[in-house]
Amino acid sequence: MMENPDNLLNNRNIKPTAMRELVLKVLTEQTTAISLAELEHKFHKADKVTLFRTLKTFEENKLIHSIDDGTGSVKYALCTESCQCNPDDLHVHFFCTSCLHTYCLNDIPIPSVNLPVHFNLESISMVVKGICSNCKK
Ligand SMILES: [Zn+2]
Ligand SMILES: [Zn+2]
Repeated sequence: MMENPDNLLNNRNIKPTAMRELVLKVLTEQTTAISLAELEHKFHKADKVTLFRTLKTFEENKLIHSIDDGTGSVKYALCTESCQCNPDDLHVHFFCTSCLHTYCLNDIPIPSVNLPVHFNLESISMVVKGICSNCKK
């Protein structure tokens, strides 16, 4: 069930604008993470800078998170409603080497890492690579 997009924005203290609503709509339609370049392809009338700023606003307010999947272009995906992007909230990502899509495995938390004394954890990312279920068929 899709929530009212304005509620999603308001919940994250993001002022709804036409552009933000459009970008959010695209993001909610994705089953895999999307890069800025891919997002740009879906907008013919919006420039890259505006799209990038919109993504940054979303990321700063924890509506979306960014993923470095090792391809060189950062991907973005929606956060779950309760996500605060703390190390405890983070999940494993899966990069398919066949379709080159990056999936959020929201149900798979990143295993805890026991750091040496006086090392503080700030963030952690884990990308698993392989063949996704769509490509395996
Ligand atoms: Zn695939
Ligand atoms: Zn994710």
